[in-house]
Amino acid sequence: MRIGHGYDVHRLTEGRKLILGGVEIPFERGLDGHSDADVLVHALMDALLGAAGERDIGVLFPDTDPRYKGVSSLLLLEEVMRRLREKNLRVGNADVTVLAQRPKLKDCIPRMRENLAKAMEIPLDRINVKATTEEGLGFTGSGEGIACHAVCLLEE
Ligand code: MG
Repeated sequence: MRIGHGYDVHRLTEGRKLILGGVEIPFERGLDGHSDADVLVHALMDALLGAAGERDIGVLFPDTDPRYKGVSSLLLLEEVMRRLREKNLRVGNADVTVLAQRPKLKDCIPRMRENLAKAMEIPLDRINVKATTEEGLGFTGSGEGIACHAVCLLEE
C-alpha cells in the first residue's frame, strides 16, 4: 500500500465561477486560477500523484501551458488515473477535506462524490468529501480563499 497527501489553495475573486469537485456552486465569487481552479480536485490529484511517486500537478499540468487554460479539472483527474493504471495502482480510498467559511457545501457533497467516483472509475464508498469552516480564522475564515487537504491509499 502507498499513502499520499495533497494540499491546495486558491484565492476567491469576483467574476469567476465557483467549481468544487466538478460542481458549479452558486456563490458571489469563484476561485481564481489557470484551469477551472477546482481546489478540491487539485488537492486530490496531488494526493494520488504523491502516493504513486509521480511528482505533482504543477509538473504534470503546468499553468504556463495554454492547453490547460479553463480546463475542467475532472479531465485532468482522468489523466492522473490513467497514469496510475499504467503503474498497476488502484485506489484503496481517498478522503478530502475542504476548508471554506462560505458557502455551505453540505448539500453539494453527494454530487461532488459522484463526479469524482465517475472520473476515477471507482465505487462511491472509496471517495469521501468533507467540508469545514475554520471558525472565521485565517485566510479561509476571512473568505480570501478556499483550501483543501486530501489523503489517499493506493494498492499495488
Ligand atoms: Mg490548484
